[in-house]
Amino acid sequence: MLFEDIKKDEEQYLMHTYGRFSAAIVSGKGAVAKDVEGREYIDFTSGIGVNSLGYCDDGWVKAVSQQAASIQHISNLYYSPLQTQVAKKLCQLTGFDKVFLCNSGAEANECAIKIARKYSFDKFGEGRQKIVTLVNSFHGRTVTTLAATGQDSFHNFFFPFTEGFDYAQANNIDDMKAKLDDSVCAVFMELIQGEGGVMPLDEEYVSAVEKLCREKDILLMIDEVQTGMARTGEIYCYQGYNIEPDVITSAKGLGGGVPIGACLCSKKLAGVMTPGSHGTTFGGNPIACAAANEVLSRVTTPEFLSEVKEKGSYIRSKLEKMTGVKEVRGRGMMIGIVTEKDNAKEIAAKCVENGLLILTAKTLLRLLPPLNITYEEIDKGLAILAETMQQ
Ligand SMILES: *Cc1c(COP(=O)(O)O)cnc(C)c1O
Repeated sequence: MLFEDIKKDEEQYLMHTYGRFSAAIVSGKGAVAKDVEGREYIDFTSGIGVNSLGYCDDGWVKAVSQQAASIQHISNLYYSPLQTQVAKKLCQLTGFDKVFLCNSGAEANECAIKIARKYSFDKFGEGRQKIVTLVNSFHGRTVTTLAATGQDSFHNFFFPFTEGFDYAQANNIDDMKAKLDDSVCAVFMELIQGEGGVMPLDEEYVSAVEKLCREKDILLMIDEVQTGMARTGEIYCYQGYNIEPDVITSAKGLGGGVPIGACLCSKKLAGVMTPGSHGTTFGGNPIACAAANEVLSRVTTPEFLSEVKEKGSYIRSKLEKMTGVKEVRGRGMMIGIVTEKDNAKEIAAKCVENGLLILTAKTLLRLLPPLNITYEEIDKGLAILAETMQQ
């Protein structure tokens, strides 16, 4: 098979929802991907923060393949020890009380939104259904999570969107205060806006928002779909902000490359979801849970987490000295790069030609390398990036 044939079939048979780089990736090991024609690439993307342990990690492959050979799916009409293992680990690692398992970030966020509205309805009755998110946020592609996304460019074509969202300016506590009227049941935000351009929130702002929420029994919900699962050097990013959210959502890196999402809630919310109030056919699928169990047991140890922080600092310090780099943002191995020429898209495309897979976010270059990438692979990738920036 040749790349050009694949490209032709893609154009003919797939809906054109994605702009793609010129490579068809078919295999990989660690942080090295291989395309259909045998060319190798250093991977700074981990499939948009998904392959936490890189490509085809031995332990992960074993967990997934053994599970596939044992039982691949049972419905949620029966008990599953794999589901309970994942939920128990997530609760024990975070202090949250209950978990709902689903298949994606958007679905985890839908669950959070439903919990917020039902908690408020059960306790206060109708009229307190509004959820405040942040301007420039990203929460998913379903009609409701698009509505939750605080970017006008996402609020088009698919009318009518779900009602009941309002958008506050990030890092502006006065604006948040003004938006938290009696119709609000929850604040929902990313601590580092990923798709929005790797924009971290200020710690003082986040603490102040938490305080406002507590005063009014407004739920504080954190979208950890991108920032979670050790990406920032904490198991979940909120742990580095010293807050106690009521709800967090997780997906992307949780399964290390298979689709799984989770919504975690605190003890106060443990009874909100009741039989019949929520569900999903594939949620808690055994193969997905076997993968998540492996990821959870590997990336959450103190040694692993401090390595993520060290590698993140190493990458950032090298980037800060690189010609063509104007600013470096982010935490751990979630890194955004403002380039001097503001030409991230162009650089990312050229990097592919030069053997490096790299992401963009808005006008930034974005790095989400596999969490277990080696220093040698980091150096190789950064050398390609430096060279590409000078071309
Ligand atoms: C990727 C992402 C989502 C959407 O996740 P999907 O799995 O694509 O539905 C939601 N929130 C944030 C912060 C994300 O980065």
